[in-house]
Amino acid sequence: MPHHHPSEEMLLGYAAGSTSEPLSLLIATHLALCPECRRKVAAYEALGGKELEVEAPAMLSSDSLVSVLDRLDTAEEPAMAPPRPSAEGDLRLPRPLRDYVAGSLDSLDWHQRGGIAEASLLTERSDFKTRLMRIRPKTAIPEHSHHGSEYTLVLTGGFSDHTGHFLRGDVAIADPAVQHRPIADAGEDCVCLAVTDAPLRFTGTIARLLSPLLQR
Ligand SMILES: [Zn+2]
Repeated sequence: MPHHHPSEEMLLGYAAGSTSEPLSLLIATHLALCPECRRKVAAYEALGGKELEVEAPAMLSSDSLVSVLDRLDTAEEPAMAPPRPSAEGDLRLPRPLRDYVAGSLDSLDWHQRGGIAEASLLTERSDFKTRLMRIRPKTAIPEHSHHGSEYTLVLTGGFSDHTGHFLRGDVAIADPAVQHRPIADAGEDCVCLAVTDAPLRFTGTIARLLSPLLQR
């Protein structure tokens, strides 16, 4: 069960159908792994569906939200295949993401630089950068800040930065003011779906960016 979730605004925007495609993909993939957020999104959809504006939640009485949540508690959870315990099962992509990845992770056009490989998705979008990242164990991603926000969803393995420890299903959100330096966990590769709405600005030395040896 994930411990780090998309913001309430992101879930509301998703339920209202007002979220961009790259962010929708990230949220839908999180929902496939997070019963808690599935329940919230179902409640938001029940309360207003596509007419629900992101500004509207202040107008909702908490009573109506609670009653919808109560009703949903008695409804059956959508049937989700439990993750298989094998390593192969860990690498299985949740459904929404699988639809964007033809074949397997290995069939993607990976660009390797040091301990980090990247494969771009949704390349027709110029306003968002959407990519899968595969980070070798204990590899540090160069310190960077953002022109825009950066959203990262963990698919396998995990990583830590100063805001916490992120495992499968967890969403890390870094706003433009945040400078961070995530480091992948020891053990297995950390595969993440990363969406940024503007290019990253690397704040470390240019040498570090150019170094083929990003691994610690
Ligand atoms: Zn969640």
